[in-house]
Amino acid sequence: MSEAQKAPTLAKFASPVDRFHLEMEPLKDAGTKVAGIYCVFAPLELVRAAGAVPVGLCGKKQGPIPDAERVLPANLCPLIKASYGYALTNSCPYWAASDFILGETTCDGKKKMFEIMARLKPLHMMRLPTDTSAEARALWLAEMHRLADYLTAQTGIAVTDEALRREISIQNRIRTALLDLAACAAEPQPPISSLDLMGVFESRTFVLNQEGYLADLLALRAELRELSAKGVSPYKKGAPRILLTGSPIGRGSEKVVRLLEDAGAVVVALENCTGIKSVVGLVEEGGDPMAALAARYLATPCSCMSPNTGRFALIDDLARQFKPTGVIDLVWQACHTYNVESFDLGRHVTEKLELPYLKVETDYTESDMEQLRTRIEAFLELQAK
Ligand code: SF4
Ligand code: SF4
Repeated sequence: MSEAQKAPTLAKFASPVDRFHLEMEPLKDAGTKVAGIYCVFAPLELVRAAGAVPVGLCGKKQGPIPDAERVLPANLCPLIKASYGYALTNSCPYWAASDFILGETTCDGKKKMFEIMARLKPLHMMRLPTDTSAEARALWLAEMHRLADYLTAQTGIAVTDEALRREISIQNRIRTALLDLAACAAEPQPPISSLDLMGVFESRTFVLNQEGYLADLLALRAELRELSAKGVSPYKKGAPRILLTGSPIGRGSEKVVRLLEDAGAVVVALENCTGIKSVVGLVEEGGDPMAALAARYLATPCSCMSPNTGRFALIDDLARQFKPTGVIDLVWQACHTYNVESFDLGRHVTEKLELPYLKVETDYTESDMEQLRTRIEAFLELQAK
């Protein structure tokens, strides 16, 4: 598929940093505070209702990892090391623009890293429970109120139910639009490449004007419908269809998606938290907005949860909708939670879903590219038989 054949609106998602700077300038002039975030447990609606803007921080490239390893152990997940390395070297434009950071007590490596990161910028830590019981929900709701107080102290703006409801409404519409876009990949020959779709999802936390982002998503969906009607697709008929799950990926750490594309396979569903996991499940509208927000975010099926049954249920739903021919489980080296969960996931995929399963454990470097290519090609070949 040539660039000229692609949906025109895709160009709007191609340079997120430029778009960020353009949108940031008037907000900074108006004194708007920027909250740097790292994880999909960070409640975007609450940040915005307090008059701040949330922005996703860099952590997906190998570049700053050697600097991070001067402080952090080398045997740590690359996402944690890259996040800290960008902060330490002040080389992430979103970090530079952030007035304060939101962290969560997710995996052990990340929460301990946040303790050290707090020496670089003010950092508020949300204490995340590990299940969705009534007690855990009460604790998480209290954490939402504690965050609201922190945000108000930063911005001088009190969080009202009205503002929360407004922000919930726009984020729900964005989630719905992204899920609708993701649904394109359920088509036998999707009109958008997996890498382009990943970029659109990832842009969500870099774009400050959320109404503008939503309008772009809707325009893109309309263009993709037209491309589908004309039979335009970057994929050949009968291409292997992969459901990709596991640790988060993004621009800079997309090597497995790239290898799959090179081999002619479609990533029909990116289950991880840079993909569908970040948008599945709407916040209930109409009741107590803070309680609804807390319930929705706590239901995120991350491997930090114990048990994490939501991930298996989500994968079942995605398998039904997207009809993958195989499942690849990507685990970053030293990501213990996803690594341990792979045992049950592999059995679930092969025994319940009766699909081929491949676990890939790697890091951000390119040193194992050829070895990965061989394994992925062999996995895809198996499905063709
Ligand atoms: S995998 Fe879990 S802890 Fe890591 S960014 Fe996603 S939701 Fe947050
Ligand atoms: S990929 Fe795993 S180890 Fe790394 S931050 Fe996420 S949960 Fe933690």
